[in-house]
Amino acid sequence: LPIETRPDGWKAVAVALAIGLVWLTVELGHGLVENRALDVADALWRFAAALPWQLALFALFGLPISLLPDRLRPGWRGAGFATLALATLVFLGARVGEGGVRREQISALGAIGQIAAVAGGAVALAALFAWIARRLPARAGRVWTWASWTVWSLLFVPALDRAAPTLALGRLPYANQLFDAPELGFAAAATLCAAVIALRPRVWPLALLLLLPLQGRVRCQAEPVAQAASERPDVLVILLDTLRADHLGRREGRPVLAPALEAVFDEGIRFSRAYAPANRTLTSMPGIMTSLSVQTVGRRLSPEARTLAEHLRDAGWATYGISANPLVSARLGYDQGFEWFSDSHDWTSFRVGDLRRIAGVLAPGFAYHRGVATSEFYYRPVSEIRRRASRVLRDAKRPSFVYLHTMDMHGPYLPPRRLLPADYRAEDFLSYFSFLRLGPEGALVGPEHEAGIANLRQRYAAQLRFTDEELGRLFDELRASGRWDETLVWILSDHGESFGEGGFAGHGGSNATPSVLQVPLGLKPPRSAGIVPRVVATPVSTYDVVPTTLGLLGLPPPRPSLGLDLSGLVRGEDFAAVERAVVSQADIPGGRILSCVRGPWKLDVQLDRDGRLEVLSLHRLEIDPDARIDLQKAYPDVRSALETEVRRYLEQERLAFFRRYEPRLDERTREQLRRLGYVE
Ligand SMILES: [Zn+2]
Repeated sequence: LPIETRPDGWKAVAVALAIGLVWLTVELGHGLVENRALDVADALWRFAAALPWQLALFALFGLPISLLPDRLRPGWRGAGFATLALATLVFLGARVGEGGVRREQISALGAIGQIAAVAGGAVALAALFAWIARRLPARAGRVWTWASWTVWSLLFVPALDRAAPTLALGRLPYANQLFDAPELGFAAAATLCAAVIALRPRVWPLALLLLLPLQGRVRCQAEPVAQAASERPDVLVILLDTLRADHLGRREGRPVLAPALEAVFDEGIRFSRAYAPANRTLTSMPGIMTSLSVQTVGRRLSPEARTLAEHLRDAGWATYGISANPLVSARLGYDQGFEWFSDSHDWTSFRVGDLRRIAGVLAPGFAYHRGVATSEFYYRPVSEIRRRASRVLRDAKRPSFVYLHTMDMHGPYLPPRRLLPADYRAEDFLSYFSFLRLGPEGALVGPEHEAGIANLRQRYAAQLRFTDEELGRLFDELRASGRWDETLVWILSDHGESFGEGGFAGHGGSNATPSVLQVPLGLKPPRSAGIVPRVVATPVSTYDVVPTTLGLLGLPPPRPSLGLDLSGLVRGEDFAAVERAVVSQADIPGGRILSCVRGPWKLDVQLDRDGRLEVLSLHRLEIDPDARIDLQKAYPDVRSALETEVRRYLEQERLAFFRRYEPRLDERTREQLRRLGYVE
């Protein structure tokens, strides 16, 4: 065998196990524990999947060490080995462990690095098995060889089972889509390669070639696509994280901040009273993507949850996602249903050793105004999302579903300085992170902060101008390509932002004010749907995005769902008859606040862990848009009617939690069950 592993032997295995355990712990620490679906078997599988990586690392180091002259080796085994191991672990752990480079085109250097890592893993496994076999008597050695490979294969059975539906869908041309779990793709390729090496040691360079097609990431860009015209519209969902509802829409005496976005809203349906499922990304996004609450599908999306991407993929749409928010990432399950998903853990957003970042922390205002600190330190900017989206949209198969998630409206608001208004005052600069400390949990943001907050709002508005410029270019490209008219476009936000409303700064926490729960929501239907553009003032929820999209496309509704199919409303049918209550939520220690909006009313109630409801306040939004005045004593009937709505919502949520476990049935089984009277 080409690699010397003897000096490290079992010690290497022990260290690898230890590192694997640390890794697993980190994985669990990153919120996987919150996923109800993660059981012991799942955790063990993750651990097993991490092992080849640890072994690969040691093989990578073993190779140069084995090539060194004898007298230099001991030195290497000390500090050099440890340093290299640590650096590579950080590198591989960060890149590969998070699955960030998955389904994304990577640089040649990155590809070589990954192939080297996989090859190392395969050889290390072969070496380890052979090393053990050599220490056994001949017959036992042979038994060991076969047994070890069998055991290793069995480790992958559960994951292979998970990958099977993907295979059955016949998307084989994309080698990277063979495997649903990133670990599986690598580990299976490494195992196959190692098996070849173990059986035919002399062909090991050839065996490594096996990795090229199997590993898939080297050529994971889609093959040239035939642009066959499709009867079915493309779907484009653009989520602008943290965009307040009041920053869109034309109002007298106020300049239009986002002309390109306004033009899209004008072309279709502008929902002037839309509410998010929750007041922050982690708890709102599950509702938007699955039309079920975070209590049902988890903060890390449960694999059982059906996302919009899954609905559309299963109906024949090609699915592509680009996200700048680390909470909307493969790591938290948001790549479910996407054939191609690029998140913020992506290769190209990785910047090493950028000292300017430190300046941005130590002296944020100084660093920003001198162009030292830019928002690129914090997230992938909309300009990069736009560039990638252009490429994706150009090559996308039809019909396609494209999801874009931008972060530019989220703090720390460091827009290009050319977009700041003329009366901007650099001396009033308030850093976003200082701002967040002003009003946590509704501590009063006082008048002494007025100038700072005004400065912050100017930067926030400039970020919207920047976002609009970039998205406008994307829309123009789509118009020029002739695809715009037949594209169904959603523009929305996952939550708003408070600039002192109710004493709150930012979003999240116990903030249930309209500034954070109300969001912009616009729908541009495909032209062939013949829908008349207009403003809809009926309260709606972004829970409705999934059912409405499916309704407009003529696809079966999601079940279960907390959202409504608004396609009838969009088509102009009378919706006023539906007394709609929209429920949003905010977290509090040991429970949550539920905010229920119906007609002009907003009722806030507190729900504790034992399910007890306590009414906090009742507001009439048309006369009190910031919900400051409590009217519950004056309107006891309204109060109890809305309380009933909240209880109804909780019952729906409870039922949805159990129904999500219902198996997904194919049409034939469903038909058989129907005949037996089991399903509707
Ligand atoms: Zn967010």
